Amino acid sequence: MSKKSKSKEQTQTMRGVINHLMQLQELILIRDEQRAIHGPGTDLGAINKHIDDMTASLDPNAATIFNRLYKKDHIIMAPMSDGSCSMCGMHLAISQIQSVKLCREIVPCPNCVRIIYDPTGPKWVGDQKRGTTERKSGIARFSSPDLMIPELEGDTAAEVISELATALEKAQFVDDASKLTQGAIERENILGTGIGHHMAFPHVRGVEGGGLALVFGVSRKGVDFGGVSKTPANLIFFCTIPTAVSAFYLRLLAGISDSFAKDANYKAAMEADSPEVLWKVLTKATRYTIK
Ligand SMILES: [Zn+2]
Repeated sequence: MSKKSKSKEQTQTMRGVINHLMQLQELILIRDEQRAIHGPGTDLGAINKHIDDMTASLDPNAATIFNRLYKKDHIIMAPMSDGSCSMCGMHLAISQIQSVKLCREIVPCPNCVRIIYDPTGPKWVGDQKRGTTERKSGIARFSSPDLMIPELEGDTAAEVISELATALEKAQFVDDASKLTQGAIERENILGTGIGHHMAFPHVRGVEGGGLALVFGVSRKGVDFGGVSKTPANLIFFCTIPTAVSAFYLRLLAGISDSFAKDANYKAAMEADSPEVLWKVLTKATRYTIK
């Protein structure tokens, strides 16, 4: 075999290992989401089995690294963002950036030792400082009136997700609504994000370079988001989540779902007839649950 075709083969194999690790990490974070919403007694049998199977079928070298990292933290994979580790911010040397891009071997972050990968999903294009220049608190740190959609039109989860993703592109937070939509649908395909109480929480992790952003849309007719929910979702909270704030997202998710499980807040959101009114409903409802 020629040298060139051998290195191409190495890249393909390593890409498979990295994808495997990323899927495993996503499953672990989905399990964390389920615990955050439904409490510690939740039946996680199916997802636990999926995680065990994926761990058992890992490449042996990757499995050793995974098990060592997993003891310390649930985030084992760090997307590269602007030549840095997006988890700890460590700047990578040119040779390391090159290795991550070539993808022929596992490249650990020289500081936090998580496995670095080159993300291919949608990119954050919003102002990085948005939210830090003015003193904001509560939900205003993650959202704004231009991210409120009081009347979603879509009939399916995919259509609604596309409407929400388009709002993020229009508000100039992300570069590509269609990539964002695709990422969110892939996430839904693993486990639907309907959580009951007429709510759904579709999201895309690994959108790096900015902050967590929330778009809130209301579907009067309701849309089926699967998951544990037997009823259609009317209140849809769509987030882009930088990997480093995955743990914080769980608190946001729990806070919002607590707020809108209250009937009065649900009704107020369903009756909101403009983005401004919906924004008031969201800020008022989350006043005590989102710090
Ligand atoms: Zn790092």
